[in-house]
Amino acid sequence: MKDGAAALSSFVDCGGKTVVIVGGGMAGLSAGWWLKKNGIEDFLILELEPQVGGNSSYGENAVSKFPWGAHYVPLANSESKYVRQLFLELGIIEADHDKEKPRYNELYLCHDPQERLFKDGSFQEGLVPKRGLKPSEEAEMKRFFDTVHELRDAKGSDGKPAFAIPLDHSSEDPRFRDLDKISFAGWLKENNFASRPLNWYVNYCCRDDYGATAENVSAWAGLHYFAGRRGHAANAETNSVVTWPEGNGFLVSRLKELLADKIVTNAPVLRLTEDKEGGSLCYFTRDGAVSRYKTKFTIFCAPRFLAPYMVEKYKLEKKPTYAPWLVANITLKKAPAGRGVGLAWDNVSYYGDSLGYVVANHQNITTRRSSVVVTYYLPLSQLPPDAARRKLLNSPEKAWSAAIVDDLEAMHPGITEDIISIDLWPWGHGMISPGVDYIWQERRKLPLNQGAVHFAHSDMSGISNFEEAQYQGVQAAERVLTQLEKS
Ligand SMILES: Cc1cc2nc3c(=O)[nH]c(=O)nc-3n(C[C@H](O)[C@H](O)[C@H](O)COP(=O)(O)OP(=O)(O)OC[C@H]3O[C@@H](n4cnc5c(N)ncnc54)[C@H](O)[C@@H]3O)c2cc1C
Repeated sequence: MKDGAAALSSFVDCGGKTVVIVGGGMAGLSAGWWLKKNGIEDFLILELEPQVGGNSSYGENAVSKFPWGAHYVPLANSESKYVRQLFLELGIIEADHDKEKPRYNELYLCHDPQERLFKDGSFQEGLVPKRGLKPSEEAEMKRFFDTVHELRDAKGSDGKPAFAIPLDHSSEDPRFRDLDKISFAGWLKENNFASRPLNWYVNYCCRDDYGATAENVSAWAGLHYFAGRRGHAANAETNSVVTWPEGNGFLVSRLKELLADKIVTNAPVLRLTEDKEGGSLCYFTRDGAVSRYKTKFTIFCAPRFLAPYMVEKYKLEKKPTYAPWLVANITLKKAPAGRGVGLAWDNVSYYGDSLGYVVANHQNITTRRSSVVVTYYLPLSQLPPDAARRKLLNSPEKAWSAAIVDDLEAMHPGITEDIISIDLWPWGHGMISPGVDYIWQERRKLPLNQGAVHFAHSDMSGISNFEEAQYQGVQAAERVLTQLEKS
């Protein structure tokens, strides 16, 4: 930081702001949404990139919009109050947002067919392996789902759900929380869940939500995937999700419209220092010059591993583990076919390392869809994260594209002929991994604030998804609002 510190000695003084939000990902946009809803207007969001959105960013070509990261949100649990509130404001929930079964906008509920799995040469419906299972494997699968359904309805001695969304609403009962002290793989072994189809499915789910295998996430986190989602809708199946061609970029666009005059892009924040008057000084660059805001409060919504480089005197005891991902958007002349059940929104193979692909323009209501964009997801979970990041960075684009084509060819022989383009996006620190003891031990050591700098970001939950990012953003805004009321 020597050069950076020297650069800070001369700067353009931008004056004062009540609040500056650092980072315009879901947490930063949500903090802004909540401040504005509560009557605060004197704030800005400074975003490093040319566009806001972070891991929920999206792109667009002549065929469709498409996500670069987050692509769906499950039906919101009743305790996910901020999600339901926002969904009501954006018309995603049309009625009864405070009832057990809200009515969702049919345009945004994932259209059928939602999922299919390629196994033994053809596609079957859904992602749980069903066809060709031995009776013992079928019985084990049933026992697993009975167990997680029981956990979904379980409450702790404090009356709270065993697994909640946001996860801070979960029971503190050690019966459940102690599950964070062992790995999910260990829990599966302890409970005699050993068959290949079940282990494939469970690992698929962990890699899908956490970018890590069952070996590398805690049993609490692993079970949260299956037992935490309790959302219902008046007009959809319980396992439904809401999705858009641009994925969660839809939420980003709507929040961006709402906060249009508050967002400054291409504005990387360099340093946050303490102000003698109790606020903070926020240095950032724009158009090649260093600028500075004097703020009463700053909400830091960038990933936490950046805090030691940016926040004066901030020390991170232990760097969290982040999962690297590769995402590819592939434009095809025509929709991929394949033996067995027809094209679904989410299309997964039982073989290979990827999570398959999601059809970006699945939600388009048209009887004549020809070209499609498919979004291909590859968590690099087979290597330790640092080695995986190096591989992500050092392997040429051509090699990644060739590996993706091979994977797609295995599901759809001849698909190469239909490929118009392949665009890649590497996520070096894609999402935090909830390893053993992270959620209920390590993350709690992360301070909520340091002086006038309040922290938000999905990292503070230990699980990276829209609901947690939004919750952390709103919670930080709430803390700032409380302090503003007092001052
Ligand atoms: C491949 C992938 C797929 C995913 N799929 C889903 C999904 O389907 N559903 C779901 O709910 N979640 C999904 N997620 C999780 C996703 O991370 C969260 O939903 C959410 O977008 C995280 O938001 P955030 O604000 O916490 O963090 P981030 O998205 O990391 O936002 C941080 C922001 O800070 C900015 N920033 C960083 N440094 C600076 C600086 N110095 N100055 C200014 N700004 C800075 C960044 O550019 C970024 O915009 C996925 C994640 C990945 C990687």
